[in-house]
Amino acid sequence: MRIDLLTLFPEMFPPVLASSIVGRAADAGIADYHVHDIRQYAQNKHAKVDDRPFGGGPGMVLMCQPVYDAVLSVEALDARPATRIVLTPQGEPLRQKRVEWLATQERLLFIAGHYEGFDERVLEELNPLELSIGDYVLSGGELAALVIVDAVVRLLPGALGHEQSAAEDSFSTATTKGGQTLLDCPHYTRPREWRGREVPEVLLSGDHAAIAAWRDEERRKRTRERRPDLASHPASPLAPPD
Ligand code: SAM
Repeated sequence: MRIDLLTLFPEMFPPVLASSIVGRAADAGIADYHVHDIRQYAQNKHAKVDDRPFGGGPGMVLMCQPVYDAVLSVEALDARPATRIVLTPQGEPLRQKRVEWLATQERLLFIAGHYEGFDERVLEELNPLELSIGDYVLSGGELAALVIVDAVVRLLPGALGHEQSAAEDSFSTATTKGGQTLLDCPHYTRPREWRGREVPEVLLSGDHAAIAAWRDEERRKRTRERRPDLASHPASPLAPPD
């Protein structure tokens, strides 16, 4: 998968993109990251990318031209069509189903905002998928883009080692049973007893069917207790955005 990241703060990306599973995926040729500075596409003397809002008020607004030119120029760097993603607190709240859908795309292009956000007209023109990582406001879209890159790349075939399986994680549609999105079950490792707390007996039994049944029940119990709202989440993967 090719991943392009458009930003005013390119220095925020390399440390994260070189670390952990996301970094290993790049080393293994599973994901290919390209960070681009939107400022380089500004067509004015001072490389200005923002201006004051019409109608007055605080903050600065990202201008259409540099964002639009950056997107088109970066898209032309590779023949594969890119799924355009704008990070915004007003976007579709990110869920695992959307992450799974993104992981099926061959190229993602993230556009991170800053200040008050984008001039509305560039969003109308680019018609991107608008995603939010939660109901709170960040200073910029960079961390949100990195959150999504991490969530997507770990689902790419070969990104996780055999010892980890994304299919059993919370929210995974692979764990969805009978139309119910589930949280993961509790996990334990050595020692068998720690500060008087024992590992559940069934996990030591070697009875694979009993272990699977226990895990299934724990997933359901946790989900009922912690996230009863998940019962109303649709189980099927999302359709592509318009
Ligand atoms: N004025 C905007 C609003 O209230 O909807 C907020 C702009 S925010 C200060 C600046 C940038 O941070 C946004 O353009 C977006 O790229 C990013 N951002 C902030 N919160 C976000 C969130 N929850 N999810 C995704 N991106 C976010």
